[in-house]
Amino acid sequence: MIEIAWDTHTHTLHSHGTGTVEQNVRAAIEKGFTKIVISDHGPQHLFYNIKDVDAYLKDIDAMRKKYKNDIEVLAGVEFNLLSEDGDMDLPPQYADAFDIHLMGYHKLARFLGLRNNVHFLLPKSHSEKAVRRNTQAYINAMDKNRIDIITHIGYGIPVDKLAVAKHAAKVGTALEINAKHPEFTTGELMECAKTGVLFSIGSDAHSIDRIGDFAPALKKAEEAGLMPEQVINARRNEL
Ligand SMILES: [Zn+2]
Ligand SMILES: [Zn+2]
Repeated sequence: MIEIAWDTHTHTLHSHGTGTVEQNVRAAIEKGFTKIVISDHGPQHLFYNIKDVDAYLKDIDAMRKKYKNDIEVLAGVEFNLLSEDGDMDLPPQYADAFDIHLMGYHKLARFLGLRNNVHFLLPKSHSEKAVRRNTQAYINAMDKNRIDIITHIGYGIPVDKLAVAKHAAKVGTALEINAKHPEFTTGELMECAKTGVLFSIGSDAHSIDRIGDFAPALKKAEEAGLMPEQVINARRNEL
């Protein structure tokens, strides 16, 4: 049985969540979590981007200090996949500013150049060629950037999850089982798990009442027979 120790994916008012960083942190403390990741949308999301990255970091840092005896607060971002070459929206001056990098495809990102806009914005084709291009984009992104977690893989664009899992296992990127967008089927999870890839289970909470709400993701992980060692934010049994 898997018990989750910390939430890897939460949004705040800095993008389009409804809670403050402090409210998210307090909700996580109430749940008895050991850590919480604040992971608002990357700067190149058209509408839900972090408006002021410095203010965001400052806010998280203040909460990290204020609650240091209760919980570990991690500064994260949910970056956007911006191109088939695997670009994502991490400004170079912030290369080392975050504790954890999440990355996902969002249809309202500012994709780079005409070619990427055409590819990522047109009605989503499930043709073999489109799937191959999407899959390669994720693989390129892992090669080009430090990505700790790929969020809601398959949400918005069709992708060969097993091929992404194989590469993720090689480079040490975890694949998210997202509670809000439960894209993984149980069968896919079982297949991906065989590659040795690790998973994260994230609430993707946009409101404080959803912090730590993992139910659909957890159910799938259990149906797929995942063990706590395969889930980066599972509680470890301490002997
Ligand atoms: Zn997302
Ligand atoms: Zn999210």
